[in-house]
Amino acid sequence: MSYEGKTKIVEDAGEGLVLIHFKDDITAGDGEKHDVMEQKGAMCAEITARVMGWLNKKGVPTHFIEFIPPRTLKAKKLKMFPLEVVVRYKKAGSFIRRYGGKEGEELSFPLVEFFIKDDERHDPMVCTDHIVLMDIATREQVERMAELAADIAMKLKEYFEMAGYDLWDMKFEFGVDENGEIVLGDEISPDTLRLRKSGEIFDKDVYRKDLGDPMEKYREVLKACRSISS
Ligand code: UDP
Repeated sequence: MSYEGKTKIVEDAGEGLVLIHFKDDITAGDGEKHDVMEQKGAMCAEITARVMGWLNKKGVPTHFIEFIPPRTLKAKKLKMFPLEVVVRYKKAGSFIRRYGGKEGEELSFPLVEFFIKDDERHDPMVCTDHIVLMDIATREQVERMAELAADIAMKLKEYFEMAGYDLWDMKFEFGVDENGEIVLGDEISPDTLRLRKSGEIFDKDVYRKDLGDPMEKYREVLKACRSISS
């Protein structure tokens, strides 16, 4: 049995495991903008593997088990929440569209936001009561996700500082494992992070805003990750 999303194919491998194959598709604007870029799947798979491997060593519960080159992760099977958990250090993207402000302005504390995964409704932002009311997660689970997200964000900020980048914001997806524990799933890559270096953009904003070849930037991020987590 397998499930195909916009950028990945998830294949049930039995024994509580899945194989996640990263495709070369890149999308933006809830799938309205779509292209296929050579090497993209392989790069995002390897970046995710390196970052989550590092997080595992730091004691963060992630689904990542093993990287199977060129573009596959072996991972723990999770029951995913249909949620995106965003943590922001600096203003950008939908924060600015919603509340104003300037790109790159520092927030006075890390902001955690929840969105429901629903392309048709453009991923509406929700608060804890919405999530509980719609039976998406319990109040305790929402609290745990917020706590984990803030902790993982702090660790990733440190990781990407070592790699030479400033981490502005990021998106996580969580699921529940067979023991009922909340575990980080999905991916961590320039598709799901905003990474900057001296004003230069090293993430999907290059694609969102048509600023050149995003894969050149993804390649540099991969090189930097290889240099710190080998
Ligand atoms: N993000 C993501 N998937 C989404 C929406 C956002 O990975 O469907 C990431 C995005 O790359 C950024 C962070 O979450 O690192 C915050 O995104 P934002 O809410 O600003 O939305 P966007 O600018 O993508 O509209």
